[in-house]
Order: sequence, then structure tokens, then C-alpha cells
Amino acid sequence: MHETHYFDANASQKLCPAARDAILLAFEAVGNPSSVHRPGRTVRRIMEDARDVIANGFGLQSQDLVFTSGGTEADATAIHAMSVGRRLIISAIEHDAVRSAATGAVIVPVGRNGIADMEALETLLSDGNPSLVCLMLANNETGVVQPVEQAAALCRRYGALLHVDAVQAAGRIPVRLDLLGAHSLAISSHKLGGPAGVGALLLAPDAPFTAPLVSGGGQERGRRGGTPPVALIAGFAAAVLAGQAADQQRIATLRDAAERAALACGAVVCGDPEHRLPNTSCIALPGVAAGVQVIALDLEGIAVSAGAACSSGKVQTSHVLQAMGLGTLAGEAIRVSLPWNVMEADIDAFAIAYRRVADRLRPTLVQGHARS
Ligand code: PLP
Repeated sequence: MHETHYFDANASQKLCPAARDAILLAFEAVGNPSSVHRPGRTVRRIMEDARDVIANGFGLQSQDLVFTSGGTEADATAIHAMSVGRRLIISAIEHDAVRSAATGAVIVPVGRNGIADMEALETLLSDGNPSLVCLMLANNETGVVQPVEQAAALCRRYGALLHVDAVQAAGRIPVRLDLLGAHSLAISSHKLGGPAGVGALLLAPDAPFTAPLVSGGGQERGRRGGTPPVALIAGFAAAVLAGQAADQQRIATLRDAAERAALACGAVVCGDPEHRLPNTSCIALPGVAAGVQVIALDLEGIAVSAGAACSSGKVQTSHVLQAMGLGTLAGEAIRVSLPWNVMEADIDAFAIAYRRVADRLRPTLVQGHARS
């Protein structure tokens, strides 16, 4: 039995020690943060301290942060609350969390480098129709960082709103809502080393909020009903602090080493090499289906994913890579996403396993591919 080397941080990653400690401590407290008695107030204090930390980390005031169950709910809430009377415009590479909430949206194309086309966005906005634009900060499959500041400037010039899915960017590159100029931002705890089951919607002071997705008992200033999971929220805040202190250059250096090992086996790296998250690489092996690579690497003790597998568990051809015009490569790319606790030994193991898998699968399948 192989030891597993985990390269699927963009799906989820190990809880960081600070988050674990904060969760265990907060679980000791009893009560509902809405209760007025002393235990309720104690729990509320834990939650509000965490809110301050997270809001501060992303450049906004505490009252502008709404806790949700995760990134999916934060995206859906933003679209629900800000799209009334507005046309929806989304980039071609948005996550299903946005795509499924934005039915009927007009699509902004991306180039072969995976970057959304700002000229196309401006052409759409210039008709002056009230719009809500959704543009993610970093793509979950390629790691490519999008020109969100430029999109925000365009939106503000034409009177449109901008929602940014920052689920993959948060904790990996600096993210500040005030500096980006967007109207709202979605983040998720488990992508940055916190627990799953909690996330947040961050709202700019001038963001409209027509109606909550879940109204319930009016928690979160009427913007999200339901008792908040205080222990998870405490862990989320601890993970945000740990992420701010993390050495992303170390991660990028290890990611580059993994990439070099794959390139030496005939692989192709997809997406803009400069504007990328430090932990993510999208690597295609021509002639070998992504699903086959994932299984072969898994048998070697290497955990990676393909396409949008993080959301469904199924391996589908990636809509992101298709939108980039990568043709057959779109079905032959795996996502290698390094977690906060990755070590050099993991990269050495990846290099050995990738070589074995490429040597075994590539020649026969490439020939078969060429003949068919
Ligand atoms: N947005 C992006 C870009 C993602 O990668 C994901 C998860 O993979 C989500 C949203 C959904 O986040 P959550 O799992 O917290 O619901």
C-alpha cells in the first residue's frame, strides 16, 4: 500500500493546526449567538471576533460580512440578492456554483491563456443595460488569475455590478475587496485550510442587497437566516490568519518543480504561466484521457483530479479548458493543486509516479489516438 501524496487542495485540503485548535476551543462553549443570556453572549463574542478577523483580512468592515455554508451559497446569495432587474453576464470559466445560479446569463469568452476577454465585456456593458457581472478571481482548474480590477472599473463606468468568486484565490494571493473595486466577493473556509461547511459573502458598502436567499430568523442582519456554526467560524478565522502568514513562494517553487517533471515526460501546461495561483498547475498529457491519468496516478499514491471532478466526483470534459479552445487536450488535462502542507518529498514522489504513468500509457494511446 502506497503512502498518499495529496495534490487536490483546490477540491479541499487538510485542516491547518491553528484552525483545529480554534474549533476545539469554540466547541467547548455552549449556546446560540442570538441568545441574550451570558452563554449566548460568550458564543456571540467568539463569532464576532472571528468576523472581525476575516473582514479585516479581506479589506472590509465587519458588518459587511455575511457568513454562509460555503462558497456555493455565497455565490448563489450574491446572484440572488443583486440580480433583480439586471441582466446576468458571466465569464465562460465560472465554477458551477455561479453557472447554476446564473441561468440564462450572457457569456464572456476567454482566450487560449484562460483569461477573460475584457474587450468583449466592455462591448456587452456599453449598451447601458443594468447588469450583474460575475468574474472569478482565480480559476479552480487552471489557477489563472483574472483581470478583476479592470472588470470592476468597466462595471463602475457603465453602472453595472460585479460579483467575484474568490474561493480559490483567498489564502493564496492577497485579496482585498476595497482594492479590487468589486461589489461582492465569495470565499470558502475549506479551500484555505479551515473546516468545510462555512464560507462568507463580503459586500462592498455600496452593494445593493435586495433579498436573502434564506430568510429564516433574520440572522446576519437579515441577509442569511439560520443559526451560524460558531466553532466552524472560529476555525475559518484561524485559517485566514494562518494563510496570511504562509510562504506562498515556497509552494510556487514546489509547483514549478512538479511542472518541470511533467514537461520532461511530454506534458503540456495549460493556461497563462504568469498570472496564476502559486499552488495550481493544469497539466495535459496528449493522447491520454484525464480520467485514466487520475486513476493511474491514484494507484501510484498520487491524488490529483481532472476537470470539474471536485464538484461531482465524475470525470467530465472540462468546460473551462473547452472554453480556452484547447480541443482534445481539454479531455487530457489533470489539475495538480498543492496544499499548504506540501513537502519536497511529495514532489519527488509525484515526479517518479508521473514518469511511470506517462511511460506506461502514453506511447500506446498516442498511436491509437493518431489512427482513430
Ligand atoms: N467557487 C469555486 C471557484 C470553487 O472552486 C468552489 C469549489 O470547488 C466553489 C465555488 C464552491 O465552494 P464550496 O465547496 O465552499 O461550496
